[in-house]
Amino acid sequence: MKSVKHCRHVKEDGIACGSPPLSGESYCHFHLRYKGCRLRTWRARRTLGVKDMRLPPPDDFHAILFSLNKVAQALASGRLGPHEAGKILRQLDRAGAKLRGEILSRAESAQEATLEASEQDRTWI
Ligand SMILES: [Zn+2]
Repeated sequence: MKSVKHCRHVKEDGIACGSPPLSGESYCHFHLRYKGCRLRTWRARRTLGVKDMRLPPPDDFHAILFSLNKVAQALASGRLGPHEAGKILRQLDRAGAKLRGEILSRAESAQEATLEASEQDRTWI
């Protein structure tokens, strides 16, 4: 007697699918597509790297904040590993520190120019 094959998928309630499998496969049409979709999604998540993030250059604080949000979302969703996220976050931290330094030096030079101008005004009076 020839045994009848059934789909190997076991549903969450513990009951087997019971549908006939596709010829040469162990799963029915629906569960073969379901498992393929899960595998493709997992592969897409694992292959996401720094280059795929498409982050803007960290030229200003808005770009840095945007990148921080994208990295946090990718890390939380599991699309980016903690090692790669750490690399990007360190680069963003360095870019932010450099920007802070540039802004502070510009503010100091502007303040010095203002003080010199006010001293010159006093000498003229
Ligand atoms: Zn099935």
